[in-house]
Amino acid sequence: MDLHSGLPYWLIKNPLFNFHNPLKEPLTVDVAIIGSGITGALVAHELCAAGIPCAVFDKRTVATGSTAASTAQLQYEIDVPLSDMIGKVGEENAVCAYQASLQSITDLEQVFESTAVRPNFRRVSSVLLASNRHGFRLLEREYEVRKRHGLPVSFLDADALFATHRIAAPAALKNKAAAQMDGYLAATGLLKYHMKKSDLKLFSHTEISSYQEKRAGYELLTSDGILIRCKHVVIAAGFEAGQFLPKQVMRLESTYALISQPVDPAELWPERSLIWETATPYFYMRTTSDNRMMIGGEDVPFRNPEARDRLLRWKIKRLERKFNKVYPDIPFVVDMAWCGTFSSTRDGLPFIGLWPGRKRMHFALGYGGNGITFSMIAAQLIKNKLLGVKDEREKVFGFSRMDSV
Ligand SMILES: Cc1cc2nc3c(=O)[nH]c(=O)nc-3n(C[C@H](O)[C@H](O)[C@H](O)COP(=O)(O)OP(=O)(O)OC[C@H]3O[C@@H](n4cnc5c(N)ncnc54)[C@H](O)[C@@H]3O)c2cc1C
Repeated sequence: MDLHSGLPYWLIKNPLFNFHNPLKEPLTVDVAIIGSGITGALVAHELCAAGIPCAVFDKRTVATGSTAASTAQLQYEIDVPLSDMIGKVGEENAVCAYQASLQSITDLEQVFESTAVRPNFRRVSSVLLASNRHGFRLLEREYEVRKRHGLPVSFLDADALFATHRIAAPAALKNKAAAQMDGYLAATGLLKYHMKKSDLKLFSHTEISSYQEKRAGYELLTSDGILIRCKHVVIAAGFEAGQFLPKQVMRLESTYALISQPVDPAELWPERSLIWETATPYFYMRTTSDNRMMIGGEDVPFRNPEARDRLLRWKIKRLERKFNKVYPDIPFVVDMAWCGTFSSTRDGLPFIGLWPGRKRMHFALGYGGNGITFSMIAAQLIKNKLLGVKDEREKVFGFSRMDSV
């Protein structure tokens, strides 16, 4: 599948990690990680830090899947509001998911601190706007439930919202726990760090085309017919993980993003907050380290890459109009636009862990709008599983809930 098209800004801004190392000989390794995006990179980081030998395989140029198209906002808020998620998975699990998501932002920050990888990680506030009266009522409910569970949140009525953020909307929820980064720099930086520091093996342009479960692990076969033997395999193959899944657990969607030309920093909105809204699909915006504005949304069900790409010009116009409604006084001149594919699940939660009955195939499927926070959680959960450490989050994100949601 082609995961994105157009001009994803990060691939133009950053020097490409020009690494070409297809696997040429049979290999034996403790853990084989399939996928070199942010999920594979974080899994590799956690395993290397725990001293577990591993190798990463990717059929593409490193980290040029969805990670290169991501707008990389890091929010503890999950696409399904906490007040709705409670109805889907129960209060204990929903709160656990939100708290894990909150913690994962701090954990990501610590990963970059401990490795000195600098993906322009920046703490910013998050402002969730009520799109209409229905959204206003949702925010009232959401404020109560988040407050009750000790999650960071404040309620801004229309006057307070206009006074602090210059936005005319019925109300907003705000927190200062969010962050933003460059997902491509993060993934490539972590992989480079561990290749040097931990002897991580990285194989690009190496497609895993089939697998066989054995008594002591897995045998993977590349599309060039080369054999990889491993004790455990981690599927960090993003939205293409379907080939390893006995049953589809996600819905594919197409999404659109634009970036403006750089502007004078004084022209940007207050606090350079992440701004999004209660409507579904939601419109969102952030800024970048070189003072551009990045906006996105307009998701539609995915049919095929051609249908997704045909809509790009029309979606550019719609996203520009939405931006102008939020900040009519800030000129937004489009520099680049792209579209990508992402996945969602019915309860808004990712699927992380072993497929029932497979003892050594671990999935790290961070499906949802906040996929990167889920990637961090997946990396920790899989490391804990391999080390035999019990992790309470397993039941919240695992496949055991598959038939009940
Ligand atoms: C436009 C857009 C905006 C987004 N915005 C946000 C956001 O603001 N915040 C957020 O948290 N998330 C966001 N997301 C989602 C986020 O980008 C993804 O959750 C994340 O990038 C997924 O990372 P990944 O490593 O799992 O997948 P990928 O980056 O796609 O990496 C998977 C890799 O696996 C490789 N692969 C697949 N199959 C095989 C195989 N058989 N053999 C070998 N290699 C294989 C692929 O080549 C690919 O490189 C956004 C996504 C898009 C498209």
